[in-house]
Amino acid sequence: MSTPLRIAVLGSTGSIGRQALDVAERMPESVRVVALAAGSNHQLLCEQARRHPSAAVALGDMEAARAASRALTKVDVGAGPGAVEALASHPDVDLVLNALVGAAGLRATIRTLDSGKRLALANKESLVVGGELVTGRVTPDSMLPVDSEHSAIFQCLLGEDERDVSRIWLTASGGPFRGRDRTFLSTVDAADALAHPTWNMGPKITVDSATLMNKGLEAIEAHHLFSVGYDRISIVVHPQSCVHSMVEFSDGSVKAHLGATDMRIPIQYAFSHPRRWPSPVDPVDFTTLGSLDFEPPDLDTFRCLALALDAGREGGTLPAVMNAANEIAVEAFLQGRCRLTDIDSVVETVMLAHDAERLVSVEQVETVDDWARRAARRALR
Ligand code: NDP
Repeated sequence: MSTPLRIAVLGSTGSIGRQALDVAERMPESVRVVALAAGSNHQLLCEQARRHPSAAVALGDMEAARAASRALTKVDVGAGPGAVEALASHPDVDLVLNALVGAAGLRATIRTLDSGKRLALANKESLVVGGELVTGRVTPDSMLPVDSEHSAIFQCLLGEDERDVSRIWLTASGGPFRGRDRTFLSTVDAADALAHPTWNMGPKITVDSATLMNKGLEAIEAHHLFSVGYDRISIVVHPQSCVHSMVEFSDGSVKAHLGATDMRIPIQYAFSHPRRWPSPVDPVDFTTLGSLDFEPPDLDTFRCLALALDAGREGGTLPAVMNAANEIAVEAFLQGRCRLTDIDSVVETVMLAHDAERLVSVEQVETVDDWARRAARRALR
């Protein structure tokens, strides 16, 4: 019997993190959790640490880390962003699942790759903002996508020659407001946006799915992961979310990846690759599935998607600016401080105020990110 894969789960209290622990706990002979990190949810982190008593733990929030230290008397709880990042290079770890949310995940991504660990990447924002700083550190099989679309594309590409790829088709559910116009969008609140029709996810990505910003972030992610130009990435709305994405080849053949809408499948695949482990969910019954629909995205209504594609095409520091402005605007929307349609206005205003530079360092990305956050807060006033 082979030794279990030793994993660090960064963002263990979030939607992806909790599902990753579920995968690990179902497969104790194959996966061992050796590190856990989160932001401020110390209660849940402590509960998880009790289930995985030998795991190293860290919390980004200092006060939360102190509370966890009091509760976990036998564990040395790391405190602050540096402690979370340090778990990515922990000597006992084989694979790091980066399930942090937002640009805050960039340093953990870089640290993982620099320490020669395998990276299971859920935190798409680190690839969006870090671009070539991340891809320049990737070696074959050192980074496995967790996003269901990218896991699907990755699997469609197995055994293929990249020269034969003519197009990537990224599928989008269309979110809860598919078919609606901007007048309607300007009236929705956070509860409406959080009611996603097919996926159950954390709040930030759920709002990104409602504005289609998520698909823009994913197009940038696909561009970097698969070295495909934006002219060869097409987005198609597929409301049933059964086809997770497709790859079209030069001979006209198209490979599609289908399956249940359950993130535990791509999370588990990032752990088991190149093998497959027993499924945590029931298989799709094609006899009861009904029809699969496909339609073009509405870029005039869902302007975040158009803005993200513009940022991706321009490249350099512009995607980091776009992402930071979006994070601030989404936070404001979730707190009821702006309308859903203000998100793209804020993102556009901040993007227009920025002169993109070539990406050179993480510090540069952080400086630009900080500027964009301040500019977005001003635009929200
Ligand atoms: P959640 O908001 O549910 O979870 C985020 C996690 O990150 C939490 O554990 C949170 O801790 C932690 N965290 C946030 N900020 C910090 C910080 N500064 N330092 C340390 N930990 C922090 O997000 P999701 O799980 O939905 O998404 C995570 C990532 O995966 C995102 O990039 C998202 O785009 C991507 N993704 C998610 C999918 C999904 O189905 N949810 C699907 C595909 C991709 P705390 O709980 O303490 O705040």
